[in-house]
Order: sequence, then C-alpha cells, then structure tokens
Amino acid sequence: MYKYDKKSLIADEFINDEEIRKTLEYAEQNKNNEALIDEILEKARPYKTDKGTFCRGLDHREASVLLACEIPEKIEKMYALAEEIKKAFYGNRIVIFAPLYLSNYCVNGCVYCPYHAVNKHIPRKKLTQEEIKNEVIALQNMGHKRLAIEAGEDPVNNPLEYILESIKTIYSIKNKHGEIRRVNVNIAATDVESYRKLKEAGIGTYILFQETYHKESYLQLHPTGPKHDYNYHTEAMDRAMEGGIDDVGLGVLFGLEMYKYEFAGLLMHAEHLEAVHGVGPHTISVPRIKKADDIDPNVFDNGISDDIFAKICALIRIAVPYTGMIISTRESQAVREKVIRLGVSQISGGSRTSVGGYTEKERPHDTEQFDVSDQRTLDEVLRWLMNMGYIPSFCTACYREGRTGDRFMSLCKSGQIQNCCHPNALMTLKEFLMDYASPETVKAGEALINKELENIPKEKVKNICIENLKKIEEGIRD
Ligand code: SAM
Repeated sequence: MYKYDKKSLIADEFINDEEIRKTLEYAEQNKNNEALIDEILEKARPYKTDKGTFCRGLDHREASVLLACEIPEKIEKMYALAEEIKKAFYGNRIVIFAPLYLSNYCVNGCVYCPYHAVNKHIPRKKLTQEEIKNEVIALQNMGHKRLAIEAGEDPVNNPLEYILESIKTIYSIKNKHGEIRRVNVNIAATDVESYRKLKEAGIGTYILFQETYHKESYLQLHPTGPKHDYNYHTEAMDRAMEGGIDDVGLGVLFGLEMYKYEFAGLLMHAEHLEAVHGVGPHTISVPRIKKADDIDPNVFDNGISDDIFAKICALIRIAVPYTGMIISTRESQAVREKVIRLGVSQISGGSRTSVGGYTEKERPHDTEQFDVSDQRTLDEVLRWLMNMGYIPSFCTACYREGRTGDRFMSLCKSGQIQNCCHPNALMTLKEFLMDYASPETVKAGEALINKELENIPKEKVKNICIENLKKIEEGIRD
C-alpha cells in the first residue's frame, strides 16, 4: 500500500507519485466512459441556493478523467461549463498587473531558465532603490496599480532584506494619480520567519511555481543550488501559510514534463492546501516554457499545443472554481483571447521581463528572462479587452480591506464578491481612462462603463457608483 495523505506535511506524501500514476491509469481507463464523464461534468455545474451560487469543484481524479477524454462533443461541454463558471464567479472582469524584475542574480542551476548560475553571457543586474523608484514611476505612468516582483535566488546579491527594502520603496512612491496598491512576490522558497517578514511588509500573494511535480525530473532540471531540494520547494506554501501569508499562488511551467502528470500534481497540491489550511490557492499560474538566452527549447519535448493548453485552463477553472487564474505575456494575443474566455481572471499587460526594462525607451533583450509574445502597450491591451466586452480592473479593495485567504474564499463562494467587485472594477477603470488612456481607449471605456452600470443589480449600489464616477471625473482619487 502506498501512502497518500493529502493532509500530510511531507511533499512526497501529499504529492504522491504513485497516487498520480494511479490517477493517470484511472483516467486512461475511463476516458471513453461517457456516463462517468457526464456525471463528473454534472457534479461540477454551478448550483443556486438562497445564499448565492456555488460550485463543488472536482478532485484530481475526476478532473484527470476529463483531461484524458478526447471525445470532441464532451470537450465542447467542458468549454461551455468552464465559461459558465467563469461568468458566475468572475463576471467579465479581468484583473491587470505587471511583473517587475528586481534582479537576475541567481545561484540556482535551473536548466530552462536563462538566469541559471552558469550562464556567463547574460549581463547580471540588480536594481538599486533609486532604479526601483524610476521603474515604479514608469509603471505608474502606464496606469499600473498591481505588481508582481520577480528575482533570482541569491542570498548575497538579493537577500531577503533587499526584497523587503524594495517592497517598502515600491509602496512609498506616490505620484499625482495614485500608487501601487498591491505587490505580489515571486521569489524562491524560504523559511517561515522570512515569510512572516514578507507578510509584515504588506505583500499580496506569495507566488512560487512548482515548475514540475515530477520529482525525478525536478531533480534533473534543478541540478544545483538550493532549489534542487524538491521537498523544501514543494513544502514552501505550507511554510508561507504558517508565516501568516494566506494568499498563495501555485503554478506549473508547462512543457517541462508530461502535462497530465503536472495537472494531477497541481490539483493535489491545491487539495492539500485546502485540507491543511482550510483555504486553497488564491491563484494558479499557467506559464509555458519559452525561448530564452542559453536555453535550447528543443530539449523540452513535453511542450503542449495551444488546444491542450486551452483544455488545461478550462479544466482548472472547473476543478478549482474559486481560484483565480493568471496568464502572462508569454502567450500571444490569440491564445490569451481563447483562455480568458475559458477561465483566466488575471493578465499582465505592457510587460518587460528584463531588469530595469520599464525605464528603457526600446524593449531591452539583454537581461530578459523570456521572449514576450504579447508586446502590446497596456493601453492597447485594455482597449482590446474592452472591445471583447471585458472590464479591465485595477481593483485591490479586497486586499486592502483584509479580505484575503479564507475570508476572500467564503465571500467568493457565496457569490457576494460580485456585488462589490463589479462597481469597483468600473471605478478603477474610470480612473485609468481619466489619467492614462489614449482618446480611442477612453471612447471604448466610456461606452463600456455606461453599458455595465446597467448590470449593477441593486439600485442603491448603482447610484453610489454613479456618484463615485462623477467624483473621479472631478479629480478625486481613491
Ligand atoms: N527565482 C524564483 C524561483 O526560483 O522560484 C522565481 C522567479 S523566476 C524569475 C519566475 C518563473 O519564471 C520561474 O518560476 C519559471 O517558472 C519561469 N521561467 C523560467 N524560465 C522560463 C522560460 N524559459 N520560459 C518561461 N518561463 C520561465
């Protein structure tokens, strides 16, 4: 008998290889079992009670059956269900953020990442606090309110103190239209005490990609450096939660290993967090491996097609309906368009993945982490979203009012979040239109706001929203 215990705090047990293999076998055996597939889809469907709309989600075995199923008519049903769930819980809002690369110094040997320690031709750069200030001003001038900071792992060049100081700098910069309201952090796995300090520094989500849940591959893909320790890396979210961070973001770097394996591992990780801490991941990111300096993309032969990628996004939406899903500019406009419909709730825009890239006139490539596929400006990304009927949102109200972790989840679960998110999104969009947008984007945005005001169900809330929109027009900012 193998030991699979989702409540265990040992990585090898809650992400148990044998359980994943059994899951994949079960999925393969049942991939044409139409009765079971219908039953699983039925279980995942949103249902209403007098307290709101709810969803049960799926466990890793059920969701893996859907992933294995190749019957076109059933896949269409999966897509339709994902869209339905997305609409029920997230409406047509898309949260906007940008990455900010602080430093590409790194002591790890991740073979897919250009920042790996033995890459000798990439210039190493670490932003000073003055340079961070200038980057933040450039991001604020684009209209950004949420950042995800990124750094390699290097205890000498980028110690935790540097990260904490940088967060302080970012929050301290106020420009005439506002400030960065939420800093999410994507840095290497660390200890409970350091997570506690990050929490005290006021971070939003702590993001750490697992890269791969396949332990054997993980050890080969991370041959040197502290990241080589699979268990320490995989147990990081438990330590983060122990340190008081209740919004954590999971992710797999798709293309490193077999996607069905990764998908089951990812859901098991989410189940583990919910079982142990009473709250699942706040977000899931779905990066795919990209071309990068000193990396041969051909060595990663587990790359996934756009269709499989879309199916994975749809099934994450169905399996963990209360978890936000993030997509970056690694993906093209066309792919982003497809997966936003199927479940993605947050996207980056106007991104530069190089250290110090936002203050450069032209997009620099020398310190870039990966090729950016979607190279449009933030203004263009927002107009594109609005032309498709989405409301770009810069809202961070939940975070600022302490609605994180399980408090956020329970609001979301009862559908309440939509009653305040919708007007908040409209107001933050209005701020963007007033302060940063091009005339063409203003036109699209004003039309969208007028249309969306009609979708606020409570007359009282609608009137407050109209009042606030007027105040924003008069120059008052949140
Ligand atoms: N250094 C931190 C760590 O080790 O977790 C995180 C920061 S790293 C800048 C952010 C993420 O970029 C990594 O977790 C990895 O998934 C992703 N990444 C690395 N190389 C990539 C590539 N060639 N294409 C796409 N994404 C990549």
